[in-house]
Amino acid sequence: MKTKNSVMLALALCAIMVFSSTHVLANSGSEYVNTISTHYSPPPPPGWSNDDITKLLWSLTPEDVFCQGISAFGSVIVGVNSLGDQYWRNLHPTTWMWEAARTVTAAGEFFRTEFSINLSNRRQTYWTSPNTLNGTTLINHAWNTHGTGGHQMMVAFTGRQNVFWHDGDTREVGGLGFTDRAGSLVVNFWHEANIAITRHEIGHNYGLSDHRNADGSVNETIRCFMGNPFSWVDSMCTSCHRTVNNNRNRY
Ligand SMILES: [Zn+2]
Ligand SMILES: [Zn+2]
Repeated sequence: MKTKNSVMLALALCAIMVFSSTHVLANSGSEYVNTISTHYSPPPPPGWSNDDITKLLWSLTPEDVFCQGISAFGSVIVGVNSLGDQYWRNLHPTTWMWEAARTVTAAGEFFRTEFSINLSNRRQTYWTSPNTLNGTTLINHAWNTHGTGGHQMMVAFTGRQNVFWHDGDTREVGGLGFTDRAGSLVVNFWHEANIAITRHEIGHNYGLSDHRNADGSVNETIRCFMGNPFSWVDSMCTSCHRTVNNNRNRY
């Protein structure tokens, strides 16, 4: 009897695994492709609602929302306020908002496919950064003057160059990220680099630390973008992965 129960439990687990992997697959590409051939109505997931905002966020027709219900509503949607300072705006006079938005979107691709955390550009803000190259001063200023702007996350882009970490540490940085709240500073280099930096800083927002050697230098060998964000832009170590997964509802 005990064996029979165990077999039934195992079968039930298999069924759940097959069921959920179908839905993960449906949402794993860069485009929203409906791979479910039959339309059916699953039980409503916790927190389900049928509001227009959600449909807008997903750019879905009502019918698509119905078909993709579990994937869509199992996701965490994080609205992002992107800031561009006067130097960032000078670099891209007519496209600075688009540059910021596409960087956030591309950086977020990893979080979307791995954790169903969907970074959604919701607001863009003119930021006048203070006259300093001290990154800590810059990020604090951005956070204190604009912050998330009523959404869940701030990514502040600066066109200043040779930004350093803080007074007493003059090493140039690509960006800074808070580990206890959703705020990052990204220093402009070029588009692909900006994506890698943004992704790394958002990793900090989810509670991750840098992978460093004992002497404080970046650990280049661990296959994780919390080490060298450029070498391992699409990789995350198991430990960091677990942490983000545990924190995925943080914002
Ligand atoms: Zn870092
Ligand atoms: Zn890691």
